[in-house]
Amino acid sequence: MFEVVIGLEVHVQLNTKTKLFCSCATSFNHKQNTNTCPTCLALPGALPVLNKEVLQKAVMLGTALGATINRTSYFDRKSYFYPDSPTAYQITQFYTPVIQNGSLDIDLEDGTKKTIRVGFAHIEADAGKNIHEGDLSKVDLNRAGTPLLEIVTQPDMRSADEAILYLKKLHSIIRYLDIGDANMQEGSFRVDVNVSIRPKGDEKLYTRVEVKNINSFKFIEKAIEVEVRRQSEAWEDGVYDTEIRQETRLFDQVKIETRSMRGKEEAADYRYFPEPDLLKAVVTDEMMEKYSKIPELPDAKRDRFINEFGLNAYNAGVITASVEMAQFFEEMMAEGISAKNATTWLTVELLARLKGDVNISNTPVNAKKLGTLVKRIEDQSVSGKAAKEVLDYLMENDSDVDSAIDTLGLKQVTDMGAIEAICDEIIAANPEKVEQLKGGKDKLFGFFVGQVMKASKGSANPQVVNEILKAKLG
Ligand code: ADP
Ligand code: MG
Ligand code: ZN
Repeated sequence: MFEVVIGLEVHVQLNTKTKLFCSCATSFNHKQNTNTCPTCLALPGALPVLNKEVLQKAVMLGTALGATINRTSYFDRKSYFYPDSPTAYQITQFYTPVIQNGSLDIDLEDGTKKTIRVGFAHIEADAGKNIHEGDLSKVDLNRAGTPLLEIVTQPDMRSADEAILYLKKLHSIIRYLDIGDANMQEGSFRVDVNVSIRPKGDEKLYTRVEVKNINSFKFIEKAIEVEVRRQSEAWEDGVYDTEIRQETRLFDQVKIETRSMRGKEEAADYRYFPEPDLLKAVVTDEMMEKYSKIPELPDAKRDRFINEFGLNAYNAGVITASVEMAQFFEEMMAEGISAKNATTWLTVELLARLKGDVNISNTPVNAKKLGTLVKRIEDQSVSGKAAKEVLDYLMENDSDVDSAIDTLGLKQVTDMGAIEAICDEIIAANPEKVEQLKGGKDKLFGFFVGQVMKASKGSANPQVVNEILKAKLG
């Protein structure tokens, strides 16, 4: 039997206004090669200057990971040629990274926690982009010099599930801290997966294969599965030593397989040396004081939602996994409604209408509106059933909750007199059924409730209807 060993490297693009070493804008959706200057084009004589905002965001992440934040860190050159990197080296932090010895807890399915060690995280500059069009290849340097934090774990994960739990937790933390967009499709949260196997019980690390180019959690899971299968089959077939090499492989999303891209470089190949053009990066006392005050993180928020609002662990986990959803929930709660109703109307009703697209920042019905709608159910202005219609309407129309209820004619009648009058009418119209009911045919009670609701076009408060009918029919 084999044990799976996984270590993860994540490149997070930081959402600073300007690049890492120059004042070019980081919004690279602009026209190609317009967000460039002599520094990020690596023209002779141009010198890099560190963007302080990058260091501030590193302090926030380091704090969130409970890591050591090196008050002085240094930059190094990693030499390699690639057409989208005009410097022919990458400025990174090799010898003394800004963040060291952090960790992150994941919640395993059996309810236990597991700590994943984050060995280090360092600041580095992103490359540009190669664009291939038919026979033509172009280079866009808008992204060149954009700040990245590369976050590297120890080989602590033992299954694809654990890897995904770690990545989702890290992703969530980046969004909570708001230090990056962490959009996997757009490449602002890029994951390299290092995978090896070993006989169960063995302590030693075997040959690792690095898989790149995977842009969704689902594909990461697949990539690990197929890579583990490839390695264990090689082992069983007695060809492990020849077939499994330390190399970088690409994940093919169509064929669901990994393919060799290049032999894996060793650190020595990169000729790392201290970057001579930059000063050391210093985290000052003021910076430390200010940026180590980070917002409440997902785990703490989840626990608070459980304790303060009485949510169950599952719902609390779902709601706090995304910072937008958690904020949405808290804004709904500010309307003074019950947590149970807030949960249902957010995670069931609203999410279904958004077709599971949890990016609730795009929802036409904001938290205040949804909270108000729930409030109208709770103060009995509208029935739960009718409220669903109101929500459908609000998804399509720019209206406030109360006008929507009026427009749709769904205001619930709680007025005892009005409902009593309808009850009397229905009772008078069905004398035989009244007899049968009184004679013991209890099921007929539902018939009367139904008739009254129908006569009121669904607007009567069912609770009140029940009470009145009970009083009248015994
Ligand atoms: P590089 O940048 O060259 O890929 P790093 O040391 O930065 O090297 O990253 C190595 C990653 O691979 C780390 O996440 C580490 O935990 C992981 N790793 C190292 N050895 C193994 C192994 N035998 N199996 C799985 N993962 C490994
Ligand atoms: Mg790597
Ligand atoms: Zn620039």
